[in-house]
Formats: sequence, structure tokens, C-alpha cells
Amino acid sequence: MSFLARARRAAGAAVVLALALGLVAAGAQDAGAAKKKKKSSSARKKPQGPPPAPVAQSLRVYTGPNSTRLVLDLSRSATFRIEPDSLARTFAIVVPKAVRSPALDLAPLDDGAVTSLAGDETSEGFRLVLGVAEWYAPRVFGLEGETGQSARIVVDVVRPGQAERDRAERERVDRAVSTARRIVVIDPGHGGEAVGAVGPKRTYEKDVTLAIARRLAGELESHAGIQVVLTRSGDYDVPLRERYRVAERYQADAFISIHCNSARGTKGGGTEVYFLSLQSASDEASKALADLENDADRVSAGPGASTDDDLAGILFDLKQTESVQQSSVLAEAILSEIESGRRLDSRGVKQAGFAVLKSPVVPAVLVETAFINNPSEERLLRDTGFQQEMAEQIARGVLSYLEHAPTVARGDRVGRTAPAPDPVPTSTPANLGVAR
Ligand SMILES: [Zn+2]
Repeated sequence: MSFLARARRAAGAAVVLALALGLVAAGAQDAGAAKKKKKSSSARKKPQGPPPAPVAQSLRVYTGPNSTRLVLDLSRSATFRIEPDSLARTFAIVVPKAVRSPALDLAPLDDGAVTSLAGDETSEGFRLVLGVAEWYAPRVFGLEGETGQSARIVVDVVRPGQAERDRAERERVDRAVSTARRIVVIDPGHGGEAVGAVGPKRTYEKDVTLAIARRLAGELESHAGIQVVLTRSGDYDVPLRERYRVAERYQADAFISIHCNSARGTKGGGTEVYFLSLQSASDEASKALADLENDADRVSAGPGASTDDDLAGILFDLKQTESVQQSSVLAEAILSEIESGRRLDSRGVKQAGFAVLKSPVVPAVLVETAFINNPSEERLLRDTGFQQEMAEQIARGVLSYLEHAPTVARGDRVGRTAPAPDPVPTSTPANLGVAR
């Protein structure tokens, strides 16, 4: 709240934000400059030219239930600052000295959170101006570019009506908890800016996982007494911790996270099913894979997000040991159904420290359906027939697990359900400097 007051006072004035994007993002350009510098070190007097102006190249918009995320691509790393205007309810993101690419497409936007969108070059640089429905401080952070990618500025704008959405969610939870015999939470991996692994034909993991998850939900819901909850239902991002907290709110019987594998260098192939390892991963490859999947939160949750603190306190919790034991049974049940389909190689049930599986109470598994970097498996993952087949196999595994799984005593907890936390903070004072 105090931040809001501060932001209001700062209205109209520039809030100086000295958040520089990492230099790694400069990639080839900076590396090239460094090489040139070395070569010409004999001719020292020759002055270095200024670095090329950053170019605002593209803008992606992801509309989620609680917030809208905008991602501005820059050709290279650059500093930026925010200028709020409370009267006009706008925020300007200013990238000094930057120019606008002719290819930058700024389609009109009015999705309930963001009410207007405009961007142009000024004498100072590139200026992106957002109108917001409610005067919140947006969360803004920079992301270093990955290899071959430009630097990014990420803006999260909160959608008004969070209190009503929380109330509606509490009602949904209470209804489900008091009526459903079994509750299964399905988690389509990645989403929004976190695209996940990318296939040779530019197939995004986030799209395949959502397609399979929807089919899996359809399969399971055709059975009486089973209620399914999806952690996301569209192309937006959800932080890893929020994903398993959905399962905890619903006191779910099982949590199934859907992913696609990807191997660097080798082709790789087949299906593997993971459950949480409380100590170390089954093998090096499993650890590397878990690190890669956990890295999604670098984009989802932004800087400063930690995924490991929860686990520390519950390592020796008996409940956790019990749910990990159940998770292994669930993983075996799912993989044995996939094996009986004989379409893909089985790579076995494995363990690793996936952040999304760290619920201490809900049995949870992560299915690496197939290798998206392998051209023949990518083709399968794009195929709706294969997606359906995979969904049916996973569903049969879940059903056979539920036949013998302990029942969750939910009734006594109705009405004591924790409110749905907002995955996107309404303000992040740490990101904003002092008004000058
Ligand atoms: Zn994944």
C-alpha cells in the first residue's frame, strides 16, 4: 500500500529504474566487439564506436486469468525505466536510445487488465505506453537473452477483481471437496512466454502439453465421481509452486504434470515418468532434466523466485514420505499402461527434484511423454491421434492407481480452505527506484 502512495506521489515524474539487462544478452554483438577490440589493440588511439542502438523488435501478449503479461523483445541488452501516470492510469516503459523496428506489430489491446497499448520512438528512445484498468504498480523485470535470442522486458499487469475471483475459486474448491469422490489435478507444463522445449519444426512443448492435458481431462471426467482441475487452461504462465498448490487446495488424490522431453546432442526417444526424489536424482540425465524444467520459473516467477525453501522444512515429514511412496505407485501404474501401448520405448520410472512435484501431501508425477527434439517423435506429438492415445494411456494408469489408492478424508476440511493466492504480486517495490 505504501508503494501505491509513493507511486501516486511520483505520478508524472520519472521513476528511475536502473535495472540493466544482463550483458550475456548482448550475445554475438558484444562478443564480436570484444574480438575486434583485441585485434586493434595495437592501434590504441582509434576510438571505439558507440554500440548499435537497441531495437524494439516484437511484443507478445499473454492474457491470463489473474494478469496479462507483455514481453518486449530487444535486439540487445539495454537499461530501461518506468514512468507512471496515475491520473491517466498509464505506465510508460522507456528504453533510452532505442529505436522501433518497422516489423514491430502493436495490435490494439483491451483485455480487461490492459486497456490500451501504444509504442513509438521519441527523441529520447523507444517508449511503450500501457493503459491499465486498475491503478496497480505493474511488475516489470528484464530477462537475459538465451543463445540466439534477444533480451526481453517483461511486464505483468494485474487484472481487477482478484477478491471476487478468489471467492469464486473458494466456492469451486468447497463444492469439489464436498462432492467429488476423487479429484485429479492435471498440469500442462510451461505456457505463455515459457514455451518449454522446441522441436525442429518449431513445435512448442507448451502447446503439446496443453493439448494432451485437455484430452486427459476429458478421459478422466467421463468416469463418475472423478473431478479434474487443470492448473492452466490457456496460453499463459503459472509459477511452478502455484501449480502444486492448486492440488493442495483441492486436496487432490493425484497430480499429473505433462511435459515433453528434449535431449541435447543426441536424438533420444521414448517415455519416462518421474516422481520426486527427496535426495538425489536417479542419474545425471534426470538431474539435468529436472534443472531444465525447474528453470521455467526464471520466466514464470521472475527474479528472486525460489522453489527450494518449501522442501527444506518438510524433508523428514512423515506425510511427505507417504506421498512420495504413493507417487511411485502412481508413476508405475501410468508407465505400465504406456508400455502396453508399445508405441514408444519405455525409459522407466525415475526420480529427480522437479520443483512442480514438491507438494508434501499430494501424490505427484511428471510424465515426459516423448522427445520433442526427435523429428519422428515430434511428428507424433503434433498428431491429435497420438495425443489422444497418450491421454487414454495415462488415464488408464491413473484409474488403476485410484482403485487402490487411500481415500482422502476431505469433508472435515471444508470451509477451512486457504484462499487462492495471487500468483502475480500486485506491486514489487524492489523493482522501482526512488522518485527524483
Ligand atoms: Zn517441460
